[in-house]
Amino acid sequence: MSLAAEGRGDFLPKHLGRRLEEVLDEEIFEDVRKAILTYDEMLADAQAEVDRRIAESLEGGSDSPPDIATCPSCDHELLLIETERGDFCFFCREEFSMAQHRTANAA
Ligand SMILES: [Zn+2]
Repeated sequence: MSLAAEGRGDFLPKHLGRRLEEVLDEEIFEDVRKAILTYDEMLADAQAEVDRRIAESLEGGSDSPPDIATCPSCDHELLLIETERGDFCFFCREEFSMAQHRTANAA
């Protein structure tokens, strides 16, 4: 688990975040999350989730962990290609179409 950036910006404990995500409507959850977390905490949170997903993919035996791209909106390298929610920025919590990136990568 050493890949995960743990212990920083954990104002909203992970289990609480997960729990809220389960019980709240997606949009409401995002509003609540943004209201609670500061910018730095949101950034650390997004980075931790990206790290976690890549670690999980590697642990799951995948030889192609998710590609990371720079988000066209926030400019952070926190956009994962082809998640279950499409090309998804974990900082903006929004989908972006990164088809060009995917094409270039597949070639
Ligand atoms: Zn973004």
